[in-house]
Amino acid sequence: MTAPVVDIVGAGLAGCEAALTLASRGVRVRLHEQKPKARTPAQESDKLCELVCSNSFRGAALSNAVGLLKEEMRRLGSFVMQVAEETKVPAGGALAVDRERFAAGMTRLIAQSPNIELVSDVVEKLPGGRPTIIATGPLTGDALARDIAEKVGTSALAYYDAIAPILSADSLDFEKVFFASRWEKGEDEEDRTAYVNCPLNEEQYKAFVAAVVAARKVEPKSFEDVRYFEGCLPIEVMAERGEMTLAFGPMKPVGLTDPRTGRWPFAVIQLRKEDEAGTAYNMVGFQSRMAWPEQERIFRTIPGLENAEFQRYGAVHRNTFLNAPKLLDETFQLKSDPGLYFTGQISGTEGYVESAAGGLLTAHFIAARLRGEEPAIPPKTTALGGILTHLGRNPDDYQPSNITFSHIAPWDGKRLKKREKYEAMAQRALRDLEHYRSVVSPAAALTA
Ligand SMILES: Cc1cc2nc3c(=O)[nH]c(=O)nc-3n(C[C@H](O)[C@H](O)[C@H](O)COP(=O)(O)OP(=O)(O)OC[C@H]3O[C@@H](n4cnc5c(N)ncnc54)[C@H](O)[C@@H]3O)c2cc1C
Repeated sequence: MTAPVVDIVGAGLAGCEAALTLASRGVRVRLHEQKPKARTPAQESDKLCELVCSNSFRGAALSNAVGLLKEEMRRLGSFVMQVAEETKVPAGGALAVDRERFAAGMTRLIAQSPNIELVSDVVEKLPGGRPTIIATGPLTGDALARDIAEKVGTSALAYYDAIAPILSADSLDFEKVFFASRWEKGEDEEDRTAYVNCPLNEEQYKAFVAAVVAARKVEPKSFEDVRYFEGCLPIEVMAERGEMTLAFGPMKPVGLTDPRTGRWPFAVIQLRKEDEAGTAYNMVGFQSRMAWPEQERIFRTIPGLENAEFQRYGAVHRNTFLNAPKLLDETFQLKSDPGLYFTGQISGTEGYVESAAGGLLTAHFIAARLRGEEPAIPPKTTALGGILTHLGRNPDDYQPSNITFSHIAPWDGKRLKKREKYEAMAQRALRDLEHYRSVVSPAAALTA
């Protein structure tokens, strides 16, 4: 019997990590990449694994969720992390790389691997062989995107994201905000704490709208079509349409009685629980293209958010992604077509590191299945487990996300200050990762 070949479409962060990881387990890979025949509008080079914008892999400290994710990936032998380490440049508390040397290093590893055949090919239809991984990223080619939409349904594939900020629950001022669902829907304690409301009076509301209109915005890229969908307009676009537009949109107060006054406030910003334990809340309908420092400055003028800690900022980008909670299982596999995997940014992981992590995990899952085993799943206490947790959440309003601590199982030990708590969660993650590591290591693959 001939050994199976895994087809991977897209040689970016996720595709290259998956290809090299599978190849290191003795699996043969056919890696399809459109370069040098074609490029996405954000790409400038013919090398693989191109970092299209910043050269930063973000925070290095373990008290930072992406710092923890990188350390977990290192411990699992990530090729992206290995080449990043070899090509790093000084960047204070972050891990940044020389992007040319990074892409050259990754391209070299792919070229040198005897198990990887690199095919230059603009893929327009989903390949028929299985296993296949689709890792074509935020700017997936149009023809392929159409074919994917045909398979999964047009409503399950998005071309733009609409990301609202996430705030740490313990940074909210509960003296000023109140718990309530609109029209007091929901019976039990769980329902009552699902929404936190920040009340604004007329003066505060009008000052807020004026600040949003005046704020510095991130300019759209040349290939981004600024005709937004009416259902997910950035808040500044709504604010520019009229002073009261937000008060009739995401800031509408109807049905939200402030227990301190017994009345509806003039306007409200609703925060919805991000995780079951309620360690974080997202700002409902608050997707925004305001620059991050502007979001921090302006959102902190909202009553109750004066000291808000932002785990994620709002954004709206061109971003092709699937509704993973509806379509994928926890191994990145399409439920309706086992053997077909979607990983990296197209599955809704946001960022270089998270996308590479998706590629790494997908390779582990496929390698296990090819050995005839049930894939091991990383613990929910780890950042890698957090990537999978995100993939399963919010099917009705799924949006891409960077990794944050709200994706990781909450801390259940003794009460600690925030930084110490994150450090303790990181130590717990690295401890819990050990068993997963022993199961997915290349040595385990060879002895299986
Ligand atoms: C303009 C822009 C700026 C960004 N800035 C940042 C940033 O500063 N920091 C950050 O962390 N993240 C940033 N991102 C997100 C980042 O690009 C992704 O998180 C990451 O690259 C995703 O990895 P991926 O492997 O899923 O996709 P990619 O790295 O995009 O790789 C996808 C690969 O698939 C190929 N491909 C696409 N369609 C086809 C096809 N039909 N046939 C064959 N090959 C195909 C592409 O050429 C590409 O090589 C940015 C994204 C964009 C679009």
